[in-house]
Amino acid sequence: MRTLSDINFAGKKALIRVDFNVPLDEHFNVTDANRIEAAKPTIDTILNDGGSVILMSHLGRPKGKEDQYSLKHIVDKTSEVLGKQVHFVNDCIGTDAETAAANLKAGEILLLENLRFYKEETAGDEAFAEKLAKLGDVYVNDAFGTAHRAHASTTIVAKFFPKNKVFGALLAKEIESLDKVLKNSEKPVTAVLGGSKVSSKITVIENILDKVDHLIIGGGMTFTFIKALGGKIGNSICEDDKQELALEILEKAKAKNVQVHLPVDVVAADAFKNDANTMVVNTNEIPDGWQGLDAGPKSLENLRQVILDSKTILWNGPLGVFEMETFAKGTITLGEFIAEATKNGAFSLVGGGDSVAAVKQFGLEPKMSYVSTGGGAMLEMLEGKTLPGIAAIQA
Ligand code: AMP
Repeated sequence: MRTLSDINFAGKKALIRVDFNVPLDEHFNVTDANRIEAAKPTIDTILNDGGSVILMSHLGRPKGKEDQYSLKHIVDKTSEVLGKQVHFVNDCIGTDAETAAANLKAGEILLLENLRFYKEETAGDEAFAEKLAKLGDVYVNDAFGTAHRAHASTTIVAKFFPKNKVFGALLAKEIESLDKVLKNSEKPVTAVLGGSKVSSKITVIENILDKVDHLIIGGGMTFTFIKALGGKIGNSICEDDKQELALEILEKAKAKNVQVHLPVDVVAADAFKNDANTMVVNTNEIPDGWQGLDAGPKSLENLRQVILDSKTILWNGPLGVFEMETFAKGTITLGEFIAEATKNGAFSLVGGGDSVAAVKQFGLEPKMSYVSTGGGAMLEMLEGKTLPGIAAIQA
């Protein structure tokens, strides 16, 4: 893996693809600077080495040059987070950008205007990528959130830096963490897959069956399996056309010696709302008019031992409708078990969408070994795909 330590940045201009697609309020203030903070280690390393930094990112989904999506709105916040004045240029290619890049001195930071002001960015246009490439001496990709896209700045630009292209610290950490789960994992390995649908997780399940000892299934996905096994699921969410597939997964798991754990009980509700009436029932005996919206106490007790016995844990997807307080307990409790296992020395990776939101919401993030920064990108890696942004650095 080519990383920052493979390059001496002294006197060099690093063109870094970062993910500064941050949320803004109606006054264009940054409401969550996490993504900027996440890029700081890479930027600091290069500046400390005696290099200068040119940051490129997208913000939102503009249709052409729309002021509301200008990266000028984030200049002050970026300067504050990086502890250094950030220069801004109102274009990402062309004369203005080239002049600003040429004038950049060692230790200085330049932020380019939104890449997606040009449709060539998402189209992966080679001529556009070449214009970006003119700005720097070294290409650094530190944007995991867009690594699954073959865009000009995330993938195509790399070909103009055949020897001088590396992963930034954040992206390297993402790859390393996933490798610890899927490649060099310490056994027993447990994957917890929750969320709403079997259909959105099927490729992930198929890919990880070869890598795990235990597969814990939870969330809305549960009920497709339970119904396929002949259980009564009441009004719980279910994908009827995936029942066949659910049974195939269970067969495959058995053949591969993977232990599958489905919830034995659930918190069922008489409506999909926080103040619904609730009761705890066996997962395969849910009465009509009731729907399972969270894992029940027996299920959680069963999970506890599996999690605590694991040396490697992957968590993707909540165990219930955690957005509603009444149905958040399963997800919080699972997070606490994983935190405990992590404290005892297990490696835990949380990634791919809503479980990341859940661990953040419940303050569990610092207790996990690693929490991924890229939803779609992490899912594709879990599916076993090679991400174009990663392949481009390795080429
Ligand atoms: P995903 O994006 O596939 O990870 O799904 C996450 C969503 O699944 C969250 O918004 C949860 O509210 C939802 N979810 C989890 N458990 C259930 C359930 N038992 N019934 C309906 N939705 C659920």
